[in-house]
Amino acid sequence: MALQRKLLFIIFVLAVIFCANGQYSITADDTWQLDDTPSEMNDEEEIELGKQVDEYIRHHFYLENDPDLNMVVSNITQRLVTVSDRNTLPFTCTILQSFSINAFSAPGGHIYLTYGLLKFAQTEDEVAGIVGHEVAHASLHHASKLYHEVMEILSRQNNGTHSPESLLLLNSHLEEFEQDADTTGVFYASKAGFNPSGLLDFLERHLSLMIRKNMFGLAGPGSSAELINSRINHLKEYLSTLEKGKNNKE
Ligand SMILES: [Zn+2]
Repeated sequence: MALQRKLLFIIFVLAVIFCANGQYSITADDTWQLDDTPSEMNDEEEIELGKQVDEYIRHHFYLENDPDLNMVVSNITQRLVTVSDRNTLPFTCTILQSFSINAFSAPGGHIYLTYGLLKFAQTEDEVAGIVGHEVAHASLHHASKLYHEVMEILSRQNNGTHSPESLLLLNSHLEEFEQDADTTGVFYASKAGFNPSGLLDFLERHLSLMIRKNMFGLAGPGSSAELINSRINHLKEYLSTLEKGKNNKE
C-alpha cells in the first residue's frame, strides 16, 4: 500500500518537473495522503524512489533503442554530470519513443528525453542545455524539496486548514525551480565546453513553434507561454552576466 501511495507522489513529480514546454499541472487529490513516509528524503531514499519511478516509466513507455542516438545522449549527459555538484548520483538518460517535444527527470538522477525533442534539437549544445537543466534539478535537490512541500500541503489538508494559497505558493516555487535549473544547467553546459546559449536557442524556437501551431490556450497569467517567456528572459539576463564574467577574466 505504501508503495502505491509513493507511486502517486512519483506521478505527481513527473507531472510537475516538466522542462521543455513549461507545462505543469497542479491538482489537489485526496489519494496523496501519505501517512508513513518521512517529510524529507536523504540520498538513499531519493535513489530508491527514483528506482520505482524508473520502473514505472519503463513499464509505460516504449524506449528508443537506437545505439547511435543513445551513445550521443549518454556522452552529453556524462560530460554534464562530471562538472555538476552531485556527480555521485547514478545518472542515466533514457530516450522515450514519443514524437512530443519533452524532457523530464525523476528523483535519483533519472533523466528522460523524448525522441521528438532530439529531432527538434538542432545542435548538441541545445541537447546539452536541456540535459543540463535536468541534471541541475537533481543537483539542487528539487525532488526532495518538492516532496517536503507536498507533504506539508497534505498534512495541512488533513487538518482541514488547506487553502488555495498553498497551491499558489507551490506553483511559484515550481517557477523558481525551473529558473534555477535553467541557470545552473547553463552553467554546467558552459563548464563542460558546450555553447551556453543552447538552452535559450531551444526554448525560443520551441516557443515560436508552439505559438505558430496554436498550442497554447488563452494566453495570460499562468499560461505556459508566459512561463516559457519568463524563463527566456531570466536566461537572457543570466547569459549576459556569464558573458561579462568571461570578458572580465580575459
Ligand atoms: Zn525543469
